[in-house]
Amino acid sequence: MQNQNDQSRMDRIVSLAKRRGFIFQSSEIYGGLNGFWDYGPLGVALKRNLKDAWWHDMVAGHDELATLAGAPSPYEMTGLDCTIIMHPQVWKCSGHFDLFHDWMIDCRESKRRYRYDHLHGRWAAHRGKKVFVTTDASGDEAAPETVARAQKFFGLRAKQVDEIEWGGGLESLQQAIAAGSATLADTLGPDATAPGSLTEPREFNLMFETRIGALAGDDEDRAFLRPETAQGIFVNFKNVLDTSRVRVPFGIAQVGKSFRNEITPRNFTFRSREFEQMEIEFFCKPADSAAWYRYWRDRRWKWYLDLGLTAGRLQLREHAADELSHYSVGTADIEYAFPFLAAGEFGELEGIAHRGDFDLRSHMEGKLVRQDGGLVVETGPDGKPRHKGSGKDLSYFDDITRERFVPHVIEPSAGADRATLAFLCDAYHEDEVPDEDGKPRSRTVLKLHPRLAPVKAAILPLVKKDGMPDLYRALKPHMACQYDEKGSVGRRYARQDEAGTPWCLTVDGQSLADRTVTLRDRDSLVQQRVAIDEVVDLLRDKLS
Ligand code: ATP
Repeated sequence: MQNQNDQSRMDRIVSLAKRRGFIFQSSEIYGGLNGFWDYGPLGVALKRNLKDAWWHDMVAGHDELATLAGAPSPYEMTGLDCTIIMHPQVWKCSGHFDLFHDWMIDCRESKRRYRYDHLHGRWAAHRGKKVFVTTDASGDEAAPETVARAQKFFGLRAKQVDEIEWGGGLESLQQAIAAGSATLADTLGPDATAPGSLTEPREFNLMFETRIGALAGDDEDRAFLRPETAQGIFVNFKNVLDTSRVRVPFGIAQVGKSFRNEITPRNFTFRSREFEQMEIEFFCKPADSAAWYRYWRDRRWKWYLDLGLTAGRLQLREHAADELSHYSVGTADIEYAFPFLAAGEFGELEGIAHRGDFDLRSHMEGKLVRQDGGLVVETGPDGKPRHKGSGKDLSYFDDITRERFVPHVIEPSAGADRATLAFLCDAYHEDEVPDEDGKPRSRTVLKLHPRLAPVKAAILPLVKKDGMPDLYRALKPHMACQYDEKGSVGRRYARQDEAGTPWCLTVDGQSLADRTVTLRDRDSLVQQRVAIDEVVDLLRDKLS
């Protein structure tokens, strides 16, 4: 089994992504822009296939007449596409304006900025001198990084490194300061040469701000790029109810860009400043909400497995009570063991949250806070709501049971970029295959699920005359395929393997005579002769 957790493996994945046109750094010719990424020709197809699979499986292909396994009842699904810039009051009532921040810490010496919760450190001592050495490296790189930094700080040669006395293992700087076992004055910042250069942590709102209209200047023009797609769904809840025939329980889905001014974007596309989300807000009766929460958690977990993510690298993690957002009754994260993380660590792909009636009530009444176990409108010093709601009635009237209630919400919120990255990492394999002469040749192959693969089939003519462009044209309306006549067949297979193409069809001298081609399977490497007239149906069957 290949070692799945190491930075060099991640480096090879990033390099393949660049070399084969999956992902490029944004504005690369100008030196790039930290936290922003572009998808190249293969990447755009991969990510689009992923979003299409999600939309199909959750919305367009949903059977609202059936009771799906694990679901309390049949339900309907519909969709929306909302704007990125919304009324600023949306973010005040949702809580993002006041609460959507990270703690950051600056280094006066290096002028660099770090996320407080990303810094780890440990005590190092040498000949009576002591310092709390920190690093912002993650995973397996963190501990060696502190050794190198301590060596430099104490001015030691490599062979003297063993003279350093360590006061325990790596711990979070935030926790060490909170516990009083370290102080900022003793702390050597990740890029500093002397201790005491880190500032007190400060709050930093993650929403990107912009101004609307030509007369930019006063506070009235101030607007924000959405940090999540969810709020567009909540504020349109009544529109959807009034214009379609949906009845509770039902879900509204949206796929779209979100923006967060992350303090430390890192790990390729994992933490970006501009990214896409695939979110569902599912509205149900309060009494049924716990059962719907369990349904959606399990349904979303299974979706990743069905599309081929390795079960052993996926984790479903229920949040502990003290980890829950102020409004949440229950939350689970679906996490993946990305290769850039240390063994045993996982990164979030999707959160499934039971949000109660927090969102709809916030947009009716105003920003809510938890008080004595319930939610109340937060008031300012004048006793008035701190952030006023819309005043619109967002309750639901069930005309069969004659009940009126504010629906509870279950929110499965996934990241399209993180999922694309997880599928890319999971699909990446290095193995050996026999070349044309039967000698072993190392290959890089993306074992992507055929639904996700950017190209489903490649037609590779080995003969100069009549390479069967007709077969290509017959397949093209049904699936993404490529026609490639350049280079040796081995090189052409290698190109398709790297792109994750599941099937290659080679056209040879025999093809014209008996109207067959060779179908090669990317993963099993099995080659079989198939009749040309059956290729389209055969591959369509395999795809579905
Ligand atoms: P994290 O704790 O990693 O910052 P989060 O808990 O803030 O993530 P949510 O607000 O639950 O994330 O957003 C839902 C999903 O959106 C995440 O599971 C993730 O897939 C995606 N997402 C969030 N922030 C980013 C980002 N900066 N870059 C890429 N995807 C993101």
